[in-house]
Parts: sequence; C-alpha cells; structure tokens
Amino acid sequence: MNETILILGASGQIGNELTQKLRVLYGNNNVIASDIREGSKDLMSSGPFEIIDATDKETILKTIKEYKVTQVYLLAAMLSATAEQFPKKAWDLNMGSLLAVLDLAKEKHIKQVYWPSSIAVFGPTTPKENTLQKTIMEPSTVYGISKISGEFWCNYYHEKYGVDVRSLRYPGIISYKTKPGGGTTDYAVDIYFKAIEERNFECFLSKNTRLPMMYMQDAVNATIKLMQAKPEDVKIRTAYNLAAIDFTPEEIALEIKKHIPDFTISYKPDFRQQIADSWPSSIDDSEARKDWNWNHKFDLKLMTDHILSNLKAQQSKETSKM
Ligand code: NAD
Repeated sequence: MNETILILGASGQIGNELTQKLRVLYGNNNVIASDIREGSKDLMSSGPFEIIDATDKETILKTIKEYKVTQVYLLAAMLSATAEQFPKKAWDLNMGSLLAVLDLAKEKHIKQVYWPSSIAVFGPTTPKENTLQKTIMEPSTVYGISKISGEFWCNYYHEKYGVDVRSLRYPGIISYKTKPGGGTTDYAVDIYFKAIEERNFECFLSKNTRLPMMYMQDAVNATIKLMQAKPEDVKIRTAYNLAAIDFTPEEIALEIKKHIPDFTISYKPDFRQQIADSWPSSIDDSEARKDWNWNHKFDLKLMTDHILSNLKAQQSKETSKM
C-alpha cells in the first residue's frame, strides 16, 4: 500500500483514532495529521503534524507537494449542535473545505478523497425506521443542509471530472479516547464518563429517543475498508448509509447499570431534542454490506464492556500515580 495520506481535522473525535490506525497500516511518516489546533499526545508524537486551515486551499496544496500526498481525508467540520448556533460559519467551513479539496483532486494534485457525510442528511419527513439509502431527504438543520449539499458536490465531481471521492453517512460515533465535538449524539459518550466519575448522568435527550449509533472501532474500519475498496465496487458516489446499532438513552443506561448497579440517569431535553427528533431511529445499510462487504463488530453490550473496562483501567492508573 503505497499511499501518503493527509488528514484535515485530525485532532477531533474521529481524526484522533483514524489517524493512528492509518499510521499503523501505512507507516507513521506516511500519514500527516493536521488541524487548526494540536491534538492528543499520542497523535502529536506518533507522526508528522501540521497546522492547516482546511478552507485554505493554497496551504493544503503546499503540504500536498511537500509530502507528496496521494490521498486526503477531510474531517474538519462544524457539527450539528454547534452549527445551529453559528449557521453561516458552519456553512463556510463545511462547504469551503470540501470544495477546496475536491478542486485539488480535480486538478490532479491527489488521487483519492474521503469526506464523511452524516445521518443528518435525513429530515423530519424521512421514514424513521430502517431508513433506506434513497428516500425522502429534507434536512431541517444547517449541518444536514451542508452534508446533503456536500454529497451532491462529491457525486458531481465524480461524474463530471472523474474525481475518486468516497463518503459514508456516519451515525452517532461513540468513543472514549477523545471527547466529541458538539454533536447531538454526544450524550452517548458523556454518559460513560459520568457513570464512572459521578454515578449519575443528566441526559439532554428524552429517554425514548432512539438514534443510530456506532462504536469508533467500527467507524474507523468502515472508513478504511471503503477507501481500500476497488473503484468499481464503490457504486454510490454521494455517500453510503452505514449502520451498526441503535438504542435509546434508557437502553444504554440499563446496559451501564449491569456494570455499575448504583448508576442513575435523569432527563432534561434541550434544543438538541428537536435535532434528534428530525433524524431516523435506524438505518438500512444493505448497499454498503453488498458493494464492499461492510460488517460491524460491536453491539451495545460489547461496546459498553469495552468502554467501561478501558475507562476503569485508565482511572486506576491515574489513582495509582497520585
Ligand atoms: P470533531 O468536532 O471532533 O473534530 C473536527 C476537527 O476539525 C476538530 O479537531 C477541529 O479543531 C477541526 N477544525 C475545525 N475547523 C477547522 C478548520 N478550519 N481547519 C482545520 N481543522 C478544523 O468532529 P468529528 O466528530 O471528529 O467529525 C469528523 C467528521 O465526521 C465531520 O465531517 C463530521 O461532520 C463527521 N461526522 C461525525 C459524527 C460523530 O458522531 N462524531 C457523525 C456523523 C458525521
């Protein structure tokens, strides 16, 4: 695998773990992390890092030339909850960065582009259960509008200019290594930390809000599998539906209680409830499973076992240092 990869937005929740997996696969020096802020200690110490604004096409091009980059993973974005506070800024970042990278691919400076979409492309009029790849798509959030527009730009650059751009509609991504960056599914990360630290959690969504979710390891594997698929197997050039699990805040709390019996949860829905209500509760990703053999590994139980045992190990390491 002879690729040199540039990651834009590498210090975020997904970038931190995706970069490190790519470094294992492609070699530390062949994966250049970049962001407008520094990332975790592991990210910074395991390979090259550059400060790059993902909307700054000239600086991206300079870096591509300097490192002889062949692929760009564009992860920089403003996420759903934050984008509702800063609509214009979200549009400028989410669209400006994508068009900069697509143009660099069109101009043949890079061979392949990865850009994630989201379940936010769906809206209140979309059928909620087992939402199909092709269905009613009328997003009601700024973030969703930027993602659906981005999908069509990707398809346009592929059809018109032959750009090899690939994309997944991620569900809510759950991890314990890096805190999430302002999304509506962030509660499903915070809940584990609060369960360990405080034994209780106040949830900003109501107890029966069912949303599609995925453990970080599955999301990273899906991303790399799609990027490594043969071009002829990538039949969808907007973005693939991608799914693993779906659950409600009440169900995740019950799973946590199996490990921490005195854990309690209370519910205080805020503005994010309206965003969540506009999204599907489960996703049909049969096209991804058929076209490039996607399979998830983690269900709610396995993910909870994994996260809680790692957080507990981290906690006892910290207490033994004190
Ligand atoms: P995040 O907010 O954790 O990370 C985004 C990173 O982009 C941050 O490190 C931030 O510093 C950086 N950034 C912001 N502005 C930048 C700029 N101008 N130039 C360069 N970097 C900049 O987000 P994430 O969760 O890692 O998401 C990565 C991608 O995946 C995004 O496109 C997001 O929309 C998509 N996605 C994420 C989820 C999820 O649950 N995390 C779900 C669906 C889609």
